[in-house]
Amino acid sequence: MDKVEYLREQLKELETAGLRNQIRHIDGPQGAWINVDGSRVLNFCSNNYLGLANDDRLIRAAKEALDRYGIGPGAVRTIAGTMTIHDELEEKLAAFKGVEAAISLQAGFVANAGAIPALVSAGDVIVTDELNHASIIDGVRLAKAARKIYRHADIEHLDYQLAEARREGAEQILIITDGVFSMDGDIAPLDAIVDTADRYEAMVMVDDAHGEGVLGRGGRGIVDHFGLHDRVEVEVGTMSKAFGVVGGYVAGPGPVVDWLRQRARPYLFSSAATPPDVAACIASVDILAESTALVDRLWANAHRFREAMNNLGFDTGLTQTPITPVMLGDEKLAQDFSRRLFGDHNVFAQAIAFPTVPMGKARIRVMISAAHNSEDLDHGLQAFATVGKEMGLIDQK
Ligand code: PMP
Repeated sequence: MDKVEYLREQLKELETAGLRNQIRHIDGPQGAWINVDGSRVLNFCSNNYLGLANDDRLIRAAKEALDRYGIGPGAVRTIAGTMTIHDELEEKLAAFKGVEAAISLQAGFVANAGAIPALVSAGDVIVTDELNHASIIDGVRLAKAARKIYRHADIEHLDYQLAEARREGAEQILIITDGVFSMDGDIAPLDAIVDTADRYEAMVMVDDAHGEGVLGRGGRGIVDHFGLHDRVEVEVGTMSKAFGVVGGYVAGPGPVVDWLRQRARPYLFSSAATPPDVAACIASVDILAESTALVDRLWANAHRFREAMNNLGFDTGLTQTPITPVMLGDEKLAQDFSRRLFGDHNVFAQAIAFPTVPMGKARIRVMISAAHNSEDLDHGLQAFATVGKEMGLIDQK
């Protein structure tokens, strides 16, 4: 008896529908150009917004930490003790974000999945944007609080759900939103969310994964972008995107962070990040704290690319950030477009389709980085223009 036959069949169904993920293999470091499956290709896929993933300063810091602290953290921090560099990272992150305290965790996903069930419990209500990231959805599922979903970025509907929650006698209310929505690149209306939250005495949690290193002064994130300091109770972040390493954190008022040190299960039951990772994260925060140069370059690149794509006749959807979705609609069309970019033009830009985005809303998501130079952007634009014309999607000019 083949007990996994059902999985073989499900995989076949994915294949037939053009929905099976094909994972490519990268040999070598991150950068504007990378080696993928034996080809040297322009990298339009990574979240390495500032090009820090292969930065000499981060590499040096990691090597020094290896010599000083070794490779493994030993065990869970609450059991084996916390290394001094973990403390240093948390202090630097709190200072960078302009909040009282921060707690570092193993990943952004872990930060959401760990923080949400710790912050609310039975009798409380979570009010969450319908397009929130999978890690928020999983965190909400793990929580014992009731949940209400509001239509994407719809303040009227948020207000309605908050009124319902209060009417039903909620004790604590936690509103959760992505800061930048990763599939469309639009920015949550956090100012209006916070105003609405105040009227219902609800807490606000924002996932700044695609906002830090991108939005706000020198990349300080969405709270800084809107000038909402001290009005957002929970900021979740990742070290794997603009910061160029790996890891996650939660930043906010002292009691939020102190409570998570007592109750966030990934902090209590999973070992901490390794010393070289943490040292590289510290170097990365230091670089951002010192200069806005990389963030400025990221935005210059993003504006230039988006404008040129729009001039070519491509629809880049709702984006307000360096995330540039090229809206194509049909799933197979998007995959074919991506394959041609890769095979004929050495451009690595992945198609994103159902279930990551709704059926019929397939797209190619171009991730612009400060690592790209002007020739890189030209190469990418030329490739999109050629494939777009070949496939009859834009005018033959
Ligand atoms: N939140 C959002 C909005 C994300 O896009 C991601 C990464 N895709 C995460 C959280 C998870 O971050 P990490 O990769 O550090 O687990």
